[in-house]
Amino acid sequence: MTPSPTVTVTNLNHSFGQGTLQKPVLTDIDLAIYPGEIVILTGPSGSGKTTLLSLIGGLRSVQKGSLKIFNQELRGCTKKQLIQVRNQIGFIFQHHNLLKCLTAYGNVRMSLKLHPEIPKYEYRQRAVAILDAVGLNDRIDYYPEKLSGGQKQRVAIARALVAQPKLVLADEPTSSLDSKTGRDVVDIIQRLAQEEGCSVLLVTHDVRILDIADRIVHMEDGRLQDE
Ligand code: ADP
Repeated sequence: MTPSPTVTVTNLNHSFGQGTLQKPVLTDIDLAIYPGEIVILTGPSGSGKTTLLSLIGGLRSVQKGSLKIFNQELRGCTKKQLIQVRNQIGFIFQHHNLLKCLTAYGNVRMSLKLHPEIPKYEYRQRAVAILDAVGLNDRIDYYPEKLSGGQKQRVAIARALVAQPKLVLADEPTSSLDSKTGRDVVDIIQRLAQEEGCSVLLVTHDVRILDIADRIVHMEDGRLQDE
C-alpha cells in the first residue's frame, strides 16, 4: 500500500499586492512529496521557489487551493494546528537567525524543547551528536559572534535536524558552505530520508548535490514543470 504523502499541494495559487497592483507569483501548483522522498526544486531567481517553500512551511497564509501537510489542511486551519505542523518541520533557510545570547548547543537545544516527547535527559546527547555530524564538535559552547558564516549555517542546520523532523524544507542549504561541509550536510539529509522516512523539499542551484534527488522539479514564472 502506498503511504499517504507528507505534502499534498493541489491547485495552489498565490499573489502579492492588491487590486490593480496584484501580481500572481504562483499559478496552479500541484505537488506531492512522499515519506522518504527528496525533491529538489530549481528555477531562476524570482520564479516563486521561496514563496512556495514558505507556504508549505505554514509561514504564509494559503490564499487559493489546498495545501495538506501531515494530512492537516493549512488553508483556514487554526493557529494551534498551524504551530503543531510547523513544529514538525525542519527549516533550513538562508537567514539562519541564531539567537546571539545562546551558544551553538543552546540554539540546537531550543529546537528540542518544542518536542515534549523527547525526554530532557536526551537533549545534550542528541545536540552533541548532530553538532558533531555537521563538523562542529569543537564549537559546541561557542556563541554565534565567535563563529564564521559557514559555521553559523551549520548550527542552523543542526537545529533544524536535531529532532528528526518528518519534513525538511531547505532553501539553498549549501550556499555558504565549502564543498566538503556541503556534502556532509546533504549526506545527513539523505540519511534522514532513507532511515527515518523524512520527506525533503530542497531549493538549490548547486549542481554538486543534484544526485541526492529522487525527483527534480523546475519552477518557471510561478509554474512547476517536472524534469
Ligand atoms: P525565488 O525564490 O524563486 O527567487 P520568490 O518566491 O522569492 O522567488 O519571489 C517570487 C516573486 O514574488 C518575485 O517577483 C518577488 O519579487 C515577489 N515577492 C516575493 N516576496 C514578496 C513580498 N513579500 N511582497 C511582494 N512581492 C514579493
